[in-house]
Amino acid sequence: MVSVSTPDRRSPSTIENWARNVTFSAGHLDRPSSLEELRGLVARSDKARVLGSGHSFSDVADSPGALISLDGLPSSVEIDGASASVRVTGSVRYAELGRRLHEAGYAVHNLASLPHISVAGSCATATHGSGVGNGSLATAVSAIEMVTADGDLVSLARGDEGFAGAVVGLGALGVVVGLTLDVEPAFTMRQQVYEGLPLEALDEHFGDVVSAAYSVSLFTGWRSPHIEQVWVKERLDGDAGPAATSLFGATAAGGPLHPVPGVSPVHCTEQLGVPGPWFERLPHFRPDFTPSSGEELQSEFMVARTHAVEALRALAELQEHVAPVLQISEIRTIAADELWLSPFYRRDSVAFHFTWVKDTAAVLPVVGLVERCLAPFGPRPHWGKLFTLPPETVRASYERLPDFQALARRYDPSGKFTNAFVARYALDAG
Ligand SMILES: Cc1cc2nc3c(=O)[nH]c(=O)nc-3n(C[C@H](O)[C@H](O)[C@H](O)COP(=O)(O)OP(=O)(O)OC[C@H]3O[C@@H](n4cnc5c(N)ncnc54)[C@H](O)[C@@H]3O)c2cc1C
Repeated sequence: MVSVSTPDRRSPSTIENWARNVTFSAGHLDRPSSLEELRGLVARSDKARVLGSGHSFSDVADSPGALISLDGLPSSVEIDGASASVRVTGSVRYAELGRRLHEAGYAVHNLASLPHISVAGSCATATHGSGVGNGSLATAVSAIEMVTADGDLVSLARGDEGFAGAVVGLGALGVVVGLTLDVEPAFTMRQQVYEGLPLEALDEHFGDVVSAAYSVSLFTGWRSPHIEQVWVKERLDGDAGPAATSLFGATAAGGPLHPVPGVSPVHCTEQLGVPGPWFERLPHFRPDFTPSSGEELQSEFMVARTHAVEALRALAELQEHVAPVLQISEIRTIAADELWLSPFYRRDSVAFHFTWVKDTAAVLPVVGLVERCLAPFGPRPHWGKLFTLPPETVRASYERLPDFQALARRYDPSGKFTNAFVARYALDAG
């Protein structure tokens, strides 16, 4: 969690994701430099997928054929105040989007923990931040432009047939070359970390704690009967008094903290209640630090928020298995949406995230334990993180999957954008 980099593209024969736990099948990246070149490349490829910023831990981005980077295409961020929207091209990262929007006096509603991820790749996997009233980042999308299998350019806008299936599309429908997002006036926030929230306080007050501010994250190593840190990100829309000094038994931290105990907070966004712009408070990590590679693996499971306390208690029982292979867990809330392959589809959710040590063989059995522990609550895994749930279980948790499959047949009848991941979890109904 402490270091971040774009995928390793130095070796012509090895392309890896950021965490270097996935080696992509393609030996090289195709980097078209114009939209026309991209359309031609897609049209003549038998198989093709796009690699965004490569921050997924699953093999969702892998391609059995061409692996395409959009980094060589002209990139733009076009803000339209009249329609309160911004159009971004396919390779734009949230760090750039945040800075550009703020300069123009605008904001998006939420951000993930890390701003270095691409907008298109994040929306394709329903990446999220936190906040009981905040939908995933994909819920800000109002229009999507894709190059489909035969090289055509297709646009879908909110309300169009198929739009709700295309936004969280796992890269399976086409190459997203433009996204239009809702924006709102820029806002100021402050971030205060509280330490030592007794787990038992959540039995009664889970809803109060996660609703204490615009965005709230709970961090625990499952090593004690405490949530070690609560990150409270408040919007300062009007007059706000000083930040509270305590929160249901947790006390305001006296200095900046990193979520992983003992790690320097130097790369974390500013804390201690100091007011600042939204894009420098919503993520946990600063946009301006130079990322390197990731010494971690991640998993995340979403369940209905109504099961939050039961699920939390069940997970706490696993501590002797989880703690030895864990760096830190984060618990967040996400509002329900209508996007067909979103893990938050029609379900106000709580997300249980695990940043594991980087040891796949030691971690995967524990991921299985977590999945079995959460099974009574119908967990939906994060598409971009590690999970071992049987494909049929994953498919069964998406009631709009048949509609998504029909959409895939419409835009990609030959399965050009299908890879093993998409075939397993989204397309193969067998
Ligand atoms: C340190 C770290 C922190 C993270 N924090 C969070 C967090 O706070 N919240 C959260 O929900 N997730 C988080 N994630 C997970 C991450 O947000 C997702 O994996 C996300 O998909 C990464 O975006 P990307 O551009 O790197 O996508 P990639 O991994 O490159 O691709 C993801 C998918 O999108 C597709 N895709 C990418 N670009 C396009 C395009 N232009 N057209 C069509 N398909 C495309 C790919 O084919 C693939 O299927 C984190 C990951 C890391 C490494």
